[in-house]
Amino acid sequence: MALQMPRVIQRPSPNYTPTPIKHDLLIAHMTEGGYAGSVAWLCERAAQASAHLCMSEDGGEVSQLVPLQFKAWAQCAFNSRGVSLEIPGRTAAGIPEARWRAAALIFGWLCVAYDIAPVWAKDGQGRGLCQHHDLGGAGGGHVDCSTIGSPTWLTFVGMVQAARDEFARAPGLPPCLLHGLPNPHQVELPPDVPPTPSHGGAARVEPGSTPLPHPTASGYPHGSVADLQWRLIKAGYPVGPAGADGFAGDLTRAALAAFQKARGLYPAPWPKVWQALDAATN
Ligand SMILES: [Zn+2]
Repeated sequence: MALQMPRVIQRPSPNYTPTPIKHDLLIAHMTEGGYAGSVAWLCERAAQASAHLCMSEDGGEVSQLVPLQFKAWAQCAFNSRGVSLEIPGRTAAGIPEARWRAAALIFGWLCVAYDIAPVWAKDGQGRGLCQHHDLGGAGGGHVDCSTIGSPTWLTFVGMVQAARDEFARAPGLPPCLLHGLPNPHQVELPPDVPPTPSHGGAARVEPGSTPLPHPTASGYPHGSVADLQWRLIKAGYPVGPAGADGFAGDLTRAALAAFQKARGLYPAPWPKVWQALDAATN
């Protein structure tokens, strides 16, 4: 049976450090709020927190907030270890089984992509998957998700194993954009809802991490399509008659490609492109 991966939307958060991570842990978090509000919060600089991925309640959509090769600010001392996934829900209420299954699909896919065994890395020791709760004080001291070693958690680990096995049997991983850096045409604005401070708003940035030097000179949210368009126009690459309208159509994509090619940045890591755009527009 073919597994259906969720739709991935790139919603770049400014809250990350552009240094490579190890990819030996997959870390499950609970948002303590809804999907849209959590994404809106984690895309705000004031949050000083992020996660690589946040999935929707029905599992049909994933917002990628941070490129998978870089540090998200999700679990303090463990930020350099792996990929963080925010699962919408509240610890007190628990997570419905269908949502656990949707999360297991994402983790199963990542297990294959990064060659991580679908086993419980208790306390964050070794290679595998764990809950934020597992990581203790060094990980930010959050006790979200289920109790460590609870039947719910062990069932989830089994679901990830099943998903990983299913993916491993298939001729190849189903196409999914999780792996890649954001392309401009995939970038969308954060949901237009009031931000919900995740985890009660507790800081998850590790000591010494600083935001990328991206001033919001454009007046648009950092990393948003309109911000990108404003910078392209200023750099001399018009994006079409509508200007910075927030819609990344063919003309915007062509303008970005032209900018990148002119600077020898095609292809190039997303932060590098942003650095070049910053340099050209500030
Ligand atoms: Zn967490």
